[in-house]
Amino acid sequence: MNDLLIRRARLMDGQGSVDVSIKDGRILAAGNNVAGSARQMVDASGRLLIPAFIDAHTHLDKALTAPEGGVGSLEEAIEDFQRRSKDIDRGDLLERGRRVLRLALRHGTTIMRTHITVSENLGLRGIEAALELREEFAGKVDLQVIAMCSGPEPEPTAPLKELLEEALRLGADGLGGAPHLSEGMKLWVDYIFALAGKYGVVIDLHADETDSPSVASLEYIAAKTLENGYQGRVVADHCCGLAAVDAATAERTIAAVKEAGISIITLPSCNLYLMGRQDQGLVRRGVTRVRELQAAGVNVAYASDNIRDAFRPFGNADMLEEALITAQVLQMGTSAELEQVIKMGTYNAAAAIGLQDYGVRVGARADLVLLDATTPAGAIIGQVEKVCVIKGGRVAVRNDKKSDIII
Ligand SMILES: [Zn+2]
Repeated sequence: MNDLLIRRARLMDGQGSVDVSIKDGRILAAGNNVAGSARQMVDASGRLLIPAFIDAHTHLDKALTAPEGGVGSLEEAIEDFQRRSKDIDRGDLLERGRRVLRLALRHGTTIMRTHITVSENLGLRGIEAALELREEFAGKVDLQVIAMCSGPEPEPTAPLKELLEEALRLGADGLGGAPHLSEGMKLWVDYIFALAGKYGVVIDLHADETDSPSVASLEYIAAKTLENGYQGRVVADHCCGLAAVDAATAERTIAAVKEAGISIITLPSCNLYLMGRQDQGLVRRGVTRVRELQAAGVNVAYASDNIRDAFRPFGNADMLEEALITAQVLQMGTSAELEQVIKMGTYNAAAAIGLQDYGVRVGARADLVLLDATTPAGAIIGQVEKVCVIKGGRVAVRNDKKSDIII
């Protein structure tokens, strides 16, 4: 007997009335009139069934800490977190992390990658809390933990290096940072590649998150990726500076990114709020060249980045909400483009963070979302309900209580 049978679903490729059977957490069969009984049944009634959302770039240690007075720029937001880091304790980190993870699951995200700051002020408290949350939410929201280091210093300090090694020994899944924030960018990148290589972990770096025309860190990361044989295991985030450089520089950089097998994660909702703060009139938006990257065959995903903190006071840990913001700013509005946006928050995100057994296909892990729409365009434009969220073959969330407008 199957564990779960989903009847009469519509898939993203336009196939209608598909049945999906699930056993031992994996998709056993998908097709018309799949036979067999199941312990649990979900009648999709023609609604759209997609693989669960993946929020591939968040900051759980910062989430839900929005300062009352707001901030004026990326630099001020970084300072704000740095200042309050000394007072952030484990209990606070766990409590806020739980709230975000529950909210994410409610909105159909079953896999999340979080960057967690390692610094002399915060120590390893953020990492320890995130690793505890990874255990606690196993089977609900799979969490990947990236130990993130950054600073204005010309290179990582000795105490910071010790903390980063310890973060990896404790079990962090990868290394990250924001090397463009330092004049010694190359030394930070060199260190991160060396340490990641030593522990065999993935690399996920904030790159050129600046209004200035700059691809310095992205180009260097691409070169180091090739040099270290790290193709397919490196993600570069933001890449705002790529939007501001001239066309020839952009073309050269994008070719290097493609050759290095780097995935790009764009974070439009956060950058729209943070970037171009000194501009008046035509305010720069800080969103990278997604169309050109995709045209060159680079894997591009979107993610939510900051959720109600100094970097961005908005966000509901809702990848469908982020899809709407992404589609709007990228001017992707046709049915085909909106399907592409949904794929950026699902399949492309899976490729970026190295998931093999993902998708609505036989043998894949049964992480699925049933949306109250028949097409990706309808789901994004209507901001529809995630009727049912399935994690590892089990119904994890039901949001199908109808609400009627009376007048
Ligand atoms: Zn970030």
